[in-house]
Amino acid sequence: MMAITDSLRKILELEQRKGYGDKAVIGGLDGYLHSHAGEIRQEIANPGLLATFDQLNLANSRYRSSDALERKRWLARILHWLDQLEKQRKQSTTTLHTELGSAAAAADAATQVQPDAQQRRISSYRSSSGQKQLTLDSPITAITGIAPKVATRFAKLGITTIHDLLYFFPRRYIDYSQRRSIADLEEGQDQTVIAAIWQSKVTTFGNRPGTEAIAGDETGNLRLVWFNQPYLARSFPTNAQVVLSGTVSIFKGQKVLVSPEWELVKDKELIHTGRLVPIYPLTQGLYPRQVRKWTKEVIDDMAWQVGDFLPSEIRSRCQLLDLGEAITQIHYPDSQPMAEKARKRLAFDELFLLQLGVLARKRDWQEGQPGNAFHIDQEIIDRFSQSLPFTLTRAQERVLDEILADLKQARAMSRLLQGEVGSGKTVIATLALLLAVSNGFQAALMAPTEVLAEQHFRNVCDHLCSTSTPDHSCDEPDRNTVSSKSIHIRRCTGFLSRPLTVALLVGSLPDEEKKDLHRRIAQGKIDIAIGTHALIQKDVRFHRLGLAVIDEQQRFGVLQRSALRQKGYNPHILIMTATPIPRTMALTLYGDLDLSVIDELPPGRQVVKTKYLEPQQREKAYAFVRRQVSNHRQAFIICPLIEESEASEARAATSEHQYLSKQVFPDLKLGLLHGRMAPAEKEHVMRCFRDGELDILVSTSVVEVGIDIPSATVMLVEGADRFGLSQLHQFRGRVGRGSDQSYCVLIPERPSPEASERLHFVETIHDGFALAEKDLDIRGPGEFFGTLQSGLPDLKIAKLSNLDLLEMARGEAMTLFQNDNYLSRVEHSPLRQRLSAVWSDRIEWS
Ligand code: ADP
Ligand code: MG
Repeated sequence: MMAITDSLRKILELEQRKGYGDKAVIGGLDGYLHSHAGEIRQEIANPGLLATFDQLNLANSRYRSSDALERKRWLARILHWLDQLEKQRKQSTTTLHTELGSAAAAADAATQVQPDAQQRRISSYRSSSGQKQLTLDSPITAITGIAPKVATRFAKLGITTIHDLLYFFPRRYIDYSQRRSIADLEEGQDQTVIAAIWQSKVTTFGNRPGTEAIAGDETGNLRLVWFNQPYLARSFPTNAQVVLSGTVSIFKGQKVLVSPEWELVKDKELIHTGRLVPIYPLTQGLYPRQVRKWTKEVIDDMAWQVGDFLPSEIRSRCQLLDLGEAITQIHYPDSQPMAEKARKRLAFDELFLLQLGVLARKRDWQEGQPGNAFHIDQEIIDRFSQSLPFTLTRAQERVLDEILADLKQARAMSRLLQGEVGSGKTVIATLALLLAVSNGFQAALMAPTEVLAEQHFRNVCDHLCSTSTPDHSCDEPDRNTVSSKSIHIRRCTGFLSRPLTVALLVGSLPDEEKKDLHRRIAQGKIDIAIGTHALIQKDVRFHRLGLAVIDEQQRFGVLQRSALRQKGYNPHILIMTATPIPRTMALTLYGDLDLSVIDELPPGRQVVKTKYLEPQQREKAYAFVRRQVSNHRQAFIICPLIEESEASEARAATSEHQYLSKQVFPDLKLGLLHGRMAPAEKEHVMRCFRDGELDILVSTSVVEVGIDIPSATVMLVEGADRFGLSQLHQFRGRVGRGSDQSYCVLIPERPSPEASERLHFVETIHDGFALAEKDLDIRGPGEFFGTLQSGLPDLKIAKLSNLDLLEMARGEAMTLFQNDNYLSRVEHSPLRQRLSAVWSDRIEWS
């Protein structure tokens, strides 16, 4: 269910976007606020936030009678307040201890313990070691106290077995290892005391019941406060000796511990207090104290059973902890340096297994079957180069050399070609296709969508026909089977002693034509097949596939790549991507590929002028779009990214499209594109836009990367603050394909100093790699990777920004592979098992 404050935010943001015209809710904002202020107020637990909320006085808002500037300011104030609320809520779910001011709300989420569970624990808190025979694969319900209901909550975190629980690592620790006497307690620090509870009673805070107690040691007394836990008052035995850990505040001149962690002093190990206490990333219905109890039990009983799969020489060379020790220390570290060591060991494992996996892929690829060594005919290369209306850039020349060196080998090329949109990747790929054909092989070029496949088909044919013959002479269809209207087969002459045949194979072809193409491909009558996924369907059989070029890597998963291989071919593979990927990532994500980079654009390329505008300058942007359209140009308008789901994103785009069509550009032709549309619908809209039947394309972020629309000159991005820098750069690459000056306008949803700083980078930096590095800096590898990481095991603990560890893991993985290519030695069998568990179906492990 959506919280009322979330609805409020949505409404206010809509109102902002619509330009403060009081159009966001029917009947006006005042009416909405007057009737909901009370409900909103009830959601606020924190006294500070409550006070600022009351100052806003939503119940008596006068939005309607305010002028535009006042409206804007007032909305900004409310949104700011909502931000504070959200921030505070986030904190309260992760932190047990906050200062007094926000403690009430924090206590809500973080320290709830069901009364009965709490009671039980106090009366019968005993270690359960030796309880029953557990194995690492036992379900967690085998642990005393984990009922099926609790297990479902763990399952949400991906934890179902004992092994999973051992690998459920804390996000961080609170340092309660500093033990003090009460007199020595200092304000604002995490500390621990041992004291006796003199007195405890139920009391109320605001109108919520809680517990208040007085504890003392020989040096003085201390007040203890728990919000929301009235049952605690009766839980402490008389004069109970307890260990208390928390942050000390001074309140009315007195030392206070607010919602401290506590446990009774007994002769057992402390787990909640007096040490580095693990904080787990929990989900609703799992309580920190319970979870700590369970992890501690499991670690004590089971960690030693986890066999260490790392060969000992790697362990000692890299100075890594033993695995059982590392698991113990990551949960309950003896000290901060030990926690670090544990982290290093476990992070190394992840990176090492990942590297072994990608190297195994490469091994399978290259050694599973011999590849085809091409003869490189320099004359063909020269002829091709001379036919181009330009000279290749130095970067293109270099990359071409790298590719040629691979093609000459009798093992399959496996190369990633990176380069910005328009850097000239396709030209190079076309030459490679030509060389495959000149060696008597077939070649394939795959694109993620039909529109892109069609574009490649046109470009490749143009390049391969460009010697002297005009388009039409190449365009002669094979009249026997295909109607003369067919544009799916073209003959190109000029480079080889015979004409070569290029075909376009896409899913939307009529069955007849598809079958016909399949037949020709199988008979070897098609030299170059260009298409979508349709190319790797099971009924497509090549006669002699020698090279496959795949455009836009991230859409084509590893699985599609191996689909080709499973057809019994071992073609050279060239993957092209316009997404700039920093080196660290490339090493990790595409460790099975060799890397080529075109880091230079052809001379004279226009720079897409990029401008950051505040939301209230939106009218200006619309006027600009209108002027461009009236000059026969086209524009993209990208809608904000909505995180919850593709469905709501689609809804947002639909309503934006409606709004723009009706209110802003009623006289223009607008199209809509979003991820919820059927593929054929999407293709249709893209075609209409490409063919100039639409003036403006309103789209979510699904709009194609590689699409070439020379008359599209404006890219307007709404909610620009929500996108990563690299993605904004990708959007920008969709304009500026023609000779006309093109523009990119960035409008943030919520202007803030950070947003404007980030967007300023996009205004001034036009190099995709530089922006990608910045993006990585700002957002961290987690988010940056999120979208790219599919097909790889999760990295829970390793940071890809840790280049040293990554290189170390890669180095060790390569050395190991050199010595024992299939990890078949006895001493490597635990490693082999672990590897197949981590990569499971992602890789073939013989
Ligand atoms: P990419 O595939 O990297 O997006 P393309 O190969 O499609 O780039 O090239 C984009 C455009 O630039 C095409 O029109 C192509 O003919 C042209 N082009 C490619 N290389 C050069 C070059 N060295 N000099 C000038 N124009 C080039
Ligand atoms: Mg391209």
